[in-house]
Amino acid sequence: MLANIACAGTLTLLLWQVQPAVLIPWCALIVGLSTARLVMALRTNAQQPRAYASPRFDQKRVRQAAIMAALFVGVPAWLLTQVTGAQVSCVICFLTGMLWAGGLILAPVLSAAVTYVGLVSALTIAGLLASGCNAYTLFVAFLFVAGGATVLRTAKRQSELFTASQRQQVELEEQGATIGLLLKDYEDQTSDWLWETDADLRYQNPSARFAQALGRPADGIQDVILGQLLIDEAVSGNVEARRTLRDSAAAREAFRDIVVPFSIGGAQRWWALSGRPLHDGQGSFLGYRGVCADITPAKQAEARIAYLAHHDALTELPNRTLFCEGLDQALRRGTARVAVLSLDLDGFKGVNDRYGHPAGDALLVAVAQRLRAVVEGGDQVARFGGDEFVILDATYTDQAGVEALAQHIIRALSAPFLIAGDDVAVGVSIGIAFAPTDGETASALIKNADAALYRAKGDGRGTFRFFAPEMDRRLQERQRLVQDLRSALAREELVLHYQPYVSARSGEVSGCEALLRWQHPESGMIAPAEFIPVAEQSGLIVPIGAWILEEACRAAVRWPAEQRVSVNISPVQFRNRELPHTILTALTRAGLSPSRLEIEVTETVLIDDVEVALDTLRQIRALGVRVALDDFGTGYSSLSYLRSFPFDKVKIDRSFVQELTTRRDNQVIVQAIRDMALGLGMSVTAEGVETCEQAERLRQSGCEELQGYLYSRPKPAGDLRFGSSLAPEQTGRPPRAVAQA
Ligand code: C2E
Ligand code: MG
Ligand code: MG
Repeated sequence: MLANIACAGTLTLLLWQVQPAVLIPWCALIVGLSTARLVMALRTNAQQPRAYASPRFDQKRVRQAAIMAALFVGVPAWLLTQVTGAQVSCVICFLTGMLWAGGLILAPVLSAAVTYVGLVSALTIAGLLASGCNAYTLFVAFLFVAGGATVLRTAKRQSELFTASQRQQVELEEQGATIGLLLKDYEDQTSDWLWETDADLRYQNPSARFAQALGRPADGIQDVILGQLLIDEAVSGNVEARRTLRDSAAAREAFRDIVVPFSIGGAQRWWALSGRPLHDGQGSFLGYRGVCADITPAKQAEARIAYLAHHDALTELPNRTLFCEGLDQALRRGTARVAVLSLDLDGFKGVNDRYGHPAGDALLVAVAQRLRAVVEGGDQVARFGGDEFVILDATYTDQAGVEALAQHIIRALSAPFLIAGDDVAVGVSIGIAFAPTDGETASALIKNADAALYRAKGDGRGTFRFFAPEMDRRLQERQRLVQDLRSALAREELVLHYQPYVSARSGEVSGCEALLRWQHPESGMIAPAEFIPVAEQSGLIVPIGAWILEEACRAAVRWPAEQRVSVNISPVQFRNRELPHTILTALTRAGLSPSRLEIEVTETVLIDDVEVALDTLRQIRALGVRVALDDFGTGYSSLSYLRSFPFDKVKIDRSFVQELTTRRDNQVIVQAIRDMALGLGMSVTAEGVETCEQAERLRQSGCEELQGYLYSRPKPAGDLRFGSSLAPEQTGRPPRAVAQA
C-alpha cells in the first residue's frame, strides 16, 4: 500500500500538468484508499491468522481485485493516450510494476489474481492501442500479453505453494493437537510421566504428574539439573544410578530404564528414567526428552518374592532353603558343634479340622511366636511347612543343654493356645540330631533329626528322642515302603480278599467285606495295618482306593444278586471331594447296582470336619449306596455320631466282641448300642466273632449280622462259596494271623 501511494504520488508529480483535473483526484483517491487498506491490514494482522477461507471470502477478494485494477490502472492506461516520449515509458513502467506487484500479491487467491492481471493487461493494451496502432505500441501490447501470462503462471505456482504450505501447517497443528492429547492421555492412564530438559540439562515445563510424584511444586523442579532432583546418598545404589544418568547425558546418548532408588518422606521409591537427546535441523543439541516411571510397586513385589523365597509367608520364619544355607555355612566353618531339633505338633490336624484352616494358621503363628521366645543367641527357628518346625541350636555345648532346651520347648508349647475363643491344647514331639556325629551336611542332619522325631511320635507324643543309627534304618525302610507302594498298583501286587458276613439267625451269607492285601515280591504278604497308614500319609490311598472300589464292584457283579460287597474307605479318601464321583464311576464301569455296594467309614471321618463329611455321606447315600459305621466302640465312640447321620449299619468293633464273654459291662454296652441302633433304624453287625459262645451272646443281644474267623477268614475272590449257610469253621480260638491267602 505504501508503494502504491509512493508510485501514484510520483506519477502524479511527474505528469500532473498533463491532466491535472484527472490526476490530482485520482492520486487523492489512491492515497485515501491505500491508507484505508493499510489501516485495515494492520488491524487484521494483529489478529490470529485465519486458517480457512470461505467461497464468499474468495468472491469478495475477486471483486476487490477488479475494483483495485480498475481504479489503479484505469487512469494510467488512459494517460497513455495523453502522454508522449519519456512520459510514455514512465507510465508503461508504472503499469508493468502494477501488473507484477498486484498479480503476485493476490496470488494466494488465484481467481482474484487472474481477474486483476486480466483487467490490468486489458486496460493497458486498450490504452496502448488507443494511443495509436503502430509497431511500437503493438510490440508493447504483445509484451503485456506475454507478461500477463507469465505473471499468471507465477501466481498459479505461488498459489499452489501457498495452499500446500497452509495445508501442511494445518495438518501439523492437528497432529500436534493429537500428540498432545495422546501424551496427556498417556500421563493420565499410566503412572508414568514425561519430562524434558533444555540444552543445559535443566528440567523444563515439568508436568503436574511429575510434580505430584515428587511431592514438590512444579516451580521446585523447573530449571533443576537432570540427576540433581533425586539425590539421596543414604539409599544404596542412588549415587551409582545418578552417575550412570549423568554420564549418559554428558555423552548425549539415549538411555533406557536407569533405575534410581531414593526416598520421599522416609519411604523408599524407585524411578526408572528413559530419555532421548533432541537435536535441531543443524544437529545442535536441544536437550533431552523422556519418560519416567515410578516402579516402586514392582520393586517391592520383587523384594517380597525374594523374601518369600527364603521365608515362610505365614509365620515369617526362615524356610527350609534359608535354614539349610545357614546350617551348611555353620557346618563348613566347622568350629561350632550344632544340634538340629526337628519339631512336629501333636494334634495339629485335629485343630485344623475342627476349627478350620484360618484357626490352624493362627495356631501356627502363635507357635512360631513361642518358639522365637524360647531360642536365644545364635539359635534359629524355621518352619518347613505344615506343622513342622526346625530349630538350630548353635550354642550347644553338651547333650544336657540340648535336653534342657527340648524340655523347655515342650513346656512352652504345652500351655493352651487361645484359638477361636477356645483354649486349645497341642503338644510337640521333638527329634534331635548332633553335628558332626549324626551328619556332616544340613540334609543329613535334618533327615536324622526327622528319624528321631518319627521315633518320638511313635513312643507317645510330647517327648523328644535323640537320633540313633537304627532309627535311620527304620526310616529308610519306611521310605522304601512308600516307593514300593507307589509301583504296587501298576505291578498288580495289590489284591482284594473277601470276608463274608452272615445272618445271625440263618447263618446265610449276606455279603462280603473287601480287605486289601499286598503281595510284596520280597517281603511277602503285608497286612493293611502296616501299609495303609503309609498309603494315607503319602496320599497314595486315593488312587489305590479308587482301584479297590472298582475291583470290589467287578467281583460283586459275579456274585448272586442278593449279595452285597462292603468296601472300607479311609478318612483321607473321604477328604477328597471327588469320592462320590469315584464311587459312581466304579459302579458304572462294573455295572453293579448301587444298592449292592456298602461303604464302611470310621468315626474319624466325622471328627475331621463334620459338615463336609456329612455332605459327602449324603451324596454317597443319594447314589443309592449303603453306608456303614465301622469299628464302633473304639476311638471316640460317641453315640452322638449315630444321631448325626442315618447309617444303614453299625459294626461293633472286635475288641468288644472278644471280651464279651469275660467282661459283663461289654455285654451291656453291646446291648445298648444294639437298642439305640434299632431305635434309629440301623442294623448291627458284630465283627471279629471267633467263638460260638461269642456268636450266641451276640445273637441274644439282637445283632443281625456276624462276621469273623468263626465263619470265614478273608479269602481270595475265587475261593468264595455262596448259597449254603456257613457253618462255623472252628469253635476254638484261631491263631491271630491277619490273613491266609
Ligand atoms: P476292618 O475294616 O475293621 O477290617 C476287619 C479286620 O479284622 C480285618 O483285618 C480282618 O481280617 C480282621 N478280622 C476279621 N475277623 C476277625 C476275627 O475273627 N479275629 C481277628 N482277630 N481279626 C478278624 P485286616 O484285613 O488286616 O484289615 C485291618 C484294617 O485295615 C481294616 O479294619 C481296615 O480298617 C483296614 N483295611 C483293610 N482293607 C482296607 C481297604 O481296602 N481300604 C481301606 N481304606 N482300609 C482297609
Ligand atoms: Mg471294615
Ligand atoms: Mg472293623
